[in-house]
Amino acid sequence: MALFNFHTHNHYCDGYFAPVIYVEEAIRQGFTDLGFSSHSPLPFENSFAIKNDEELVVYADEIRALKLAYQDKINIHLGLEIDFIPGVTKPFNHFKTIAGLEYVIGGVHLINIKDHDDIWFIDGPRQETYDKGLKLLFGKDFQKAITTYWIQVREMISSQKPDIVAHLDKIKMHNKNRYFHEDESWYEAQLDDTLQLIKETETIVEVNTRGIYKGRSDELFPGIKALIKIHKLKIPITISSDAHRPEELSGFYPQTLEILKEIGFTELMIYSKSCWSELPIKTIKRRGISG
Ligand SMILES: [Zn+2]
Ligand SMILES: [Zn+2]
Repeated sequence: MALFNFHTHNHYCDGYFAPVIYVEEAIRQGFTDLGFSSHSPLPFENSFAIKNDEELVVYADEIRALKLAYQDKINIHLGLEIDFIPGVTKPFNHFKTIAGLEYVIGGVHLINIKDHDDIWFIDGPRQETYDKGLKLLFGKDFQKAITTYWIQVREMISSQKPDIVAHLDKIKMHNKNRYFHEDESWYEAQLDDTLQLIKETETIVEVNTRGIYKGRSDELFPGIKALIKIHKLKIPITISSDAHRPEELSGFYPQTLEILKEIGFTELMIYSKSCWSELPIKTIKRRGISG
């Protein structure tokens, strides 16, 4: 029986404790695999990413040391959640090379448009930050704002080729049906185009539980409607909690596994022995914290 999470944070970025604390908790919860994925360094001041390339190497060395030290108890993997901002961030290959990463999660948290100094932060706990950035960059053109997010996600997938695409429809988190509804045809077309590209590039979609256990979203990322499309397209998925605290490592896992089974998914992707492979959902442990 397996239990895993490839999307976790720690004190090298905006997580709260040293990596070893997450390892100990993962072992306590019966995890077989734990992947670390701190936020990649960014070329401007911020409060959530690894400070710089030198720190990234220190992070990578520490995870590799843990991998060795705990090899009899748990499989530890070295990943990175890399931000993609066209024309601003370094290529994913740069980070892969300097840190010797095993896998990459590509994520869009920051939206950038040409000839504009400000960057729109679509994530984080505060709706006001989302609203402010949206208005600053796009005024009242909400459709253009949301479309720009999806274009940026597609550009990331096609140009950077991450193993996993992070929290696919996170753009909806702070929307709360105020600027757009997910059943509007233009929105669905953006989602469909993106899923088509994901299918063609064989990118893995993570089913990210963080929005729910943090009380920031009523739905998983991606939501049920998108997950049904993903199932129809036979796109590979994995489960992750995007944990920032040790107790979040399997947050909302049991319920999510039930939801996925109900949609019809039978396999999840797991990283082992230097590659991704499918694992039957029925062999995944139903342990962990649900709230
Ligand atoms: Zn993220
Ligand atoms: Zn994350």
